[in-house]
Amino acid sequence: MVEEKVKSIIDSLSTSTSENFTDVICLSLAKAIKANFVFIAKLNPERTVATTISLAVDGVINDNFSYDLQATPCENVSQGIMCSQISHVQKAYPDDQLLIDMNITGYVGVPLKNSKGATGAILVALYYQPIENEIEVTSLFMLFSGMIKKEMEKQELIDELRTRNKIIEESSDAIVVCDRDRKITSVNKAFTRITGYSFKEMGGKKPSALGADLHDKYFFKKIWQEIADNGTWSGELWGKKKNGEIFPEYLSINTIYDEDNNVSHYVAFFFDISKQKQAEEKIYRQAHFDLLTGIANRSFFMENLSLTVDSLNDGEKSALLFMDLDLFKEINNVYGHTFGDELLIKASGRLQSLIKSTDIVARVSGDGFAILLNNVISDEVIDNIISRVFLGFSEPFTIHDISIRCTLSMGVVPFSNDKDDASTLIKKAEHAMYHAKNSGRNSFNYFTQDMQNNVQRQLFLKKALSAALTSNSLSVEFQPIVSITEQKVNKFEALVRWKNEGKWISPEEFIPIAEEFSLIKPLGEFVLDEACRQLKILKSQGYTNIVFNVNRSVYEIPLNKSENEQWLTVIEQHSLKPSDICFELTESALAPDKRNNERLFNQLKAAGCTIALDDFGTGYSSLSYLRRIPVDYIKIDKSFIKDMSTNKDDNVLVATIIAMSKSLGKKVVAEGVETKEQLQQLTELGCDYIQGYYFSKPLPSESLVSYLNDFKY
Ligand code: C2E
Ligand code: CA
Ligand code: CA
Repeated sequence: MVEEKVKSIIDSLSTSTSENFTDVICLSLAKAIKANFVFIAKLNPERTVATTISLAVDGVINDNFSYDLQATPCENVSQGIMCSQISHVQKAYPDDQLLIDMNITGYVGVPLKNSKGATGAILVALYYQPIENEIEVTSLFMLFSGMIKKEMEKQELIDELRTRNKIIEESSDAIVVCDRDRKITSVNKAFTRITGYSFKEMGGKKPSALGADLHDKYFFKKIWQEIADNGTWSGELWGKKKNGEIFPEYLSINTIYDEDNNVSHYVAFFFDISKQKQAEEKIYRQAHFDLLTGIANRSFFMENLSLTVDSLNDGEKSALLFMDLDLFKEINNVYGHTFGDELLIKASGRLQSLIKSTDIVARVSGDGFAILLNNVISDEVIDNIISRVFLGFSEPFTIHDISIRCTLSMGVVPFSNDKDDASTLIKKAEHAMYHAKNSGRNSFNYFTQDMQNNVQRQLFLKKALSAALTSNSLSVEFQPIVSITEQKVNKFEALVRWKNEGKWISPEEFIPIAEEFSLIKPLGEFVLDEACRQLKILKSQGYTNIVFNVNRSVYEIPLNKSENEQWLTVIEQHSLKPSDICFELTESALAPDKRNNERLFNQLKAAGCTIALDDFGTGYSSLSYLRRIPVDYIKIDKSFIKDMSTNKDDNVLVATIIAMSKSLGKKVVAEGVETKEQLQQLTELGCDYIQGYYFSKPLPSESLVSYLNDFKY
């Protein structure tokens, strides 16, 4: 009897699939044991709720449902205990409302344990009538519970594999699976998207078919050796797409082992890193190359220069050429910035075409270029290259249909492995270049011993000047400025003085050094402070309307607006008014590239200070600066005054400056007036103030009162 039942169940199962297995077994079990209900239910992890996955009711599969386990016979089963109640099950479980509602009398339930022994599901039979053959029911249940369990586990595994496969399939990385012979057994969608190959085309082939021929065989040998040793490898390499395109990829290969620890599969992940590579390349280019001209930039050049300096062997020689385009600023002003940029691009291109590809040409400043000549055999080679560059630049450039000649000035420093580092070499070359520029442009200068002495003197002065600043050994003299209309002294210009080891050193020499070595701020503070102190003394002597002019270098202009107040604070500390001080600035301080200057000057002006534009005519006087910056006085440079009596051009120029200043509403000061003749001419031209040896040299502070007392126009 039982054998037949078992056989009929097995027969019906033989036609089942993994999808409907639980339905089929519930139906055939119900039939065999004549139960009204047979179901399989999965338990939640807390084992408080059961949810049927197959439910056979009177020979038909019904919809699944969930129920609470508390106080039901199934609660025991979920604890791993088989439970059977041939009749009166409602009496045994009076709180199980479901049993009452369904009108159940007999109950059999068995736990379905997983491989770890935990109950994950239950198999239950329910009867309207008392159970006739309990032994048969329980033994059939016991017999088939093992099979159901196995089938359910298989199903779960399949489901899990399905989700895993789906993840693999949908992954944005290309995934390739190979067997132990490294033949491709499967690929995902991303693989096809990235490489263009379908599985049909690649299945059974070796993945080496996907490589670009850019790596030698040792490269792959090493990779496979590493995989053999460590089970995994990852890194960057070149791949090749179906359309022949070569692309950089990041590849990671992992080994899958079977139970016996033999290689079963290799799984490779890779993705296209062209975009990252492009970004890296862009960053590299931006860091090393000049954006405008595309040639190397200063930092890249310095890096290479350092490397060359360090790697030169005894007896080897290299050379550094430092170049600056002649009159580039003027060209820029006349033709505009776009034109200037075009010229820089063409000039870089021309320089590059004149040197060997192993040498480096770089743009090291606005219109400054440098060339590193690697390993030159003799001085003659350097001279040849220099001639080539000058010959090259004797040809005009054509920009926007304009043909323009642009020459350059060059400083040359040959070097071997002896002493100088890269920045010293650049300084020397720059120095030599300035010599070339000052001796009339379109020429070159080797760095010479004289220049070396000059550099040494600069370093010596820098040291002495910083000592002088801390030991208060600087002083200030004051040169009278005389009003022509009032015929009296109403201003003095404060001029710094320095006696070092008994010798006076000219500010023309030490001010640029102070500027270069960041000593100009303490120096300027000292002069302003001293000027205020002396002015206070003059005022106390009754000279209440005198103004002191104080020079300020462009390098003293605060970069940060929060420091703008400092200039006024010093004046206030001496209980003076801002209108007692006039600041003298050169044109470079008014240039619009100094963002804070406009704000600073407006602030000073608003407080009551006046501003004088110093050395007018020597810079690239741009009238637009004069409109932007609130200048009160224009000081005509002494070089124009010097020759105005003898040189007609200078006379016309001075006349023009005066007329222009008047039309802009500015007062004019003439500097360096030494003769009566100059004074007369300037008076006729309508100049407002005179400063110069004709009236007085700069005076020490103790002579000011007597000078004022004795002054006669
Ligand atoms: P600067 O501002 O143009 O000053 C006028 C210069 O001309 C002074 O030279 C003055 O002594 C000189 N000078 C005055 N009258 C005559 C004259 O009739 N004939 C000739 N040949 N020269 C005359 P100094 O004192 O040697 O100063 C040179 C430059 O140093 C100044 O030119 C100024 O640019 C700078 N300097 C001087 N003191 C200071 C300072 O305290 N701070 C800053 N930043 N620069 C200063
Ligand atoms: Ca001045
Ligand atoms: Ca001046």
